[in-house]
Amino acid sequence: RIAYVNGQYVRHADAAVHVEDRGYQFADGVYEVCEIWQGRIVDMTRHLDRLDRSLGELRIGWPMTRAAVEFVVRQVVRRNKVRNGLVYIQVTRGVSRRDHFFPPEDVAPSIVVTARSTSPEAASAQAAQGIAVVSYPENRWPRVDIKTVALLPNVLAKQNAKEHGGKEAWYVDTTGFVTEGGSTNAWIVTKEGTLVTRPAESGILRGITRAVVLELIEKEGLTFEERPFSLQEAFEAKEAFVTAATSIVMPVVRVDDRMIGNGHPGSVATRLRDLFHTATDFQMV
Ligand code: PLP
Repeated sequence: RIAYVNGQYVRHADAAVHVEDRGYQFADGVYEVCEIWQGRIVDMTRHLDRLDRSLGELRIGWPMTRAAVEFVVRQVVRRNKVRNGLVYIQVTRGVSRRDHFFPPEDVAPSIVVTARSTSPEAASAQAAQGIAVVSYPENRWPRVDIKTVALLPNVLAKQNAKEHGGKEAWYVDTTGFVTEGGSTNAWIVTKEGTLVTRPAESGILRGITRAVVLELIEKEGLTFEERPFSLQEAFEAKEAFVTAATSIVMPVVRVDDRMIGNGHPGSVATRLRDLFHTATDFQMV
């Protein structure tokens, strides 16, 4: 495997950043994950738009031009011969002697790009089975709209889910509303067949997959509401699912100890998963 690190393509096994990288010391960085589907990069434009926003919110500069980042992303996917998988882009504030204050202006941001293959068969098998999610008290900072590498709360929530037989955590705020998953956006389908997902204005990351699914829902003429839903409402939902570049549309068949619907993936989630790539934008590798 090959990775790109600050200007060089290196063996993945040897890919490293300096110990004084601010990503390592302060989690002072941001990232993106794009899906690679049938040799194409899915929605790279939207992902790089969001990277631009995350960088802007944290006042980190682009490590190189956006066109150069796109070129490197393609190269890393190509050099790793990934047909189906994921590409990961991380930018940090760079390498500088440990000090909370921003480093001097001449310190360049660090960039790392990696890619790996995933198994479409394994993903389909998982989607046919559905996943269990485990609720967890919302304990993240209010700026979850920024896709930062500071993911310790997400790590702890997801590990807790795993230790309770789940594949994802659902954060629940102090008023009982689900915000989002540890690395996904959360959705339900009500008994009346209305799709519900939380508005992206507060409490969640504005998922690219979420946006594509919303467009798909409109195109299909399905009824939906962008509003917060409670954990209780999720328990009583006909269907539930999560969305992310890493899992597309993944049916949820259990929330805590409650079975959702009949305990099998719902028809709406399954249909949205099947149609997903008809609604995305592609760039050839
Ligand atoms: N919410 C969180 C906290 C995430 O980390 C992610 C993706 O990693 C998402 C939502 C889904 O975003 P996207 O659909 O852009 O992958």
